[in-house]
Amino acid sequence: MNLLQIKNLTVEIEGKKVLDGLDFDIEKGEVVALLGPNGSGKSTLAKIIAGDLGYKLKSGEIIFAKENISKISPENRVKKGIALAFQNPPQIEGLKMIDFLKSIEEKEDYFKEEKLLNRDVNKGFSGGEKKLGELMQLTSLNLKLVILDEIDSGLDIKKIGEVGEIIKKYFIENGVAVLIITHHGDILDILKPNRASIIIDGKIVGRDEDYRNVLKTIKKYDYEKCRKCTKFLPGR
Ligand code: ADP
Ligand code: MG
Repeated sequence: MNLLQIKNLTVEIEGKKVLDGLDFDIEKGEVVALLGPNGSGKSTLAKIIAGDLGYKLKSGEIIFAKENISKISPENRVKKGIALAFQNPPQIEGLKMIDFLKSIEEKEDYFKEEKLLNRDVNKGFSGGEKKLGELMQLTSLNLKLVILDEIDSGLDIKKIGEVGEIIKKYFIENGVAVLIITHHGDILDILKPNRASIIIDGKIVGRDEDYRNVLKTIKKYDYEKCRKCTKFLPGR
């Protein structure tokens, strides 16, 4: 069953089509990778799914669990089970992680060992700590779809491993669908997505069940030529 279904989504910003008749869907519990060059519309798509109402939809609709959610606020989308990990989370002075994560006591030792809990939310956190903090916050919500926008960017290989294991343990193994936006295969080798799609100029131009085929195709042809390279993907 489709958990998320996006049909013919077009978004214009200052006369430029940032998303251009985009069709995209995610099944219940599915892990989907989205790859594409800088400026192809990945973060815009992520924000629109999560409910950023600052974008005007020129056409299209967003159906989540059979309901058109196009006009629903981000808060209400979280209640329905959709959340996005921000690329640049804000810092919150005076609010301790431990207080923020009310359900943390029930969580695994992994989080308890983390040194983040008695620090102000995101204050002075390193890039890796911010990403970990974001994930910790998301695991305390009851989600059906989590969107991770370049959660692996700027992380060393060990932190990518840690972040990957948290995503697996708290989301994937609990049947939460994951949309993972990334530029690298390392995190995908851990998450093993059910499929991967390529977005270029606001359109999905190709997809394959095997994310490794998609990575190989991008590497071989680079994004410039990839509008056509996707004909080599069997699942396009
Ligand atoms: P990606 O995440 O794939 O790198 P984005 O979705 O961030 O791409 O951006 C896609 C395009 O839309 C870019 O050209 C970007 O400059 C433009 N864009 C996105 N949001 C805005 C905005 N609020 N104002 C102006 N331009 C925007
Ligand atoms: Mg982006």
